[in-house]
Amino acid sequence: MTLPSKVLQFCPKCGSNKFIAQDEKSFKCDDCQFHFFVNSAAAVAAIIENSKGEVMLTVRAFAPNKGMLDLPGGFVDPNEGLEHALKRELHEELNMEVDSLKYIGSFPNQYVFSEYTVFTTDVGFHCQVSGWNKMHIQDDISDITFVSKETINWDSIASTSIKNIIRSYWGLPTE
Ligand SMILES: [Zn+2]
Repeated sequence: MTLPSKVLQFCPKCGSNKFIAQDEKSFKCDDCQFHFFVNSAAAVAAIIENSKGEVMLTVRAFAPNKGMLDLPGGFVDPNEGLEHALKRELHEELNMEVDSLKYIGSFPNQYVFSEYTVFTTDVGFHCQVSGWNKMHIQDDISDITFVSKETINWDSIASTSIKNIIRSYWGLPTE
């Protein structure tokens, strides 16, 4: 039971225990009237291809889903745009630079961290990148691999949203 309506018990503003879930999307405090909304967090994911047209997947270094495969990317910071987040994440994870990017599509996900469900909107971009010769695997990834339509193991991908970004890019039906 990691949904916000099950986990959050006290008003984050006044500390009252009369912090009442209105539905899965909002809470209201009966003492201070603070109205708290559970919004979707934006996250970005990059499709990067090697010279053979294979797609780069990263190996997750930490929970959740440690060891499973993912696309490069991550959460968008407060006061940050999607494009900036993508450039920042690719720099942090791979030490690579984004030269151009093209929107693919977006898919919802539920990301459970610290026994708490974060609702996300995962936004996929096809990226042209540079800096292959100085690529450095770091931050929250432990390795990378390249896959094609023929070699991908869909069960090794951490989330349905990431599968769907790859499926969209390859023109396959989404789940
Ligand atoms: Zn309150």
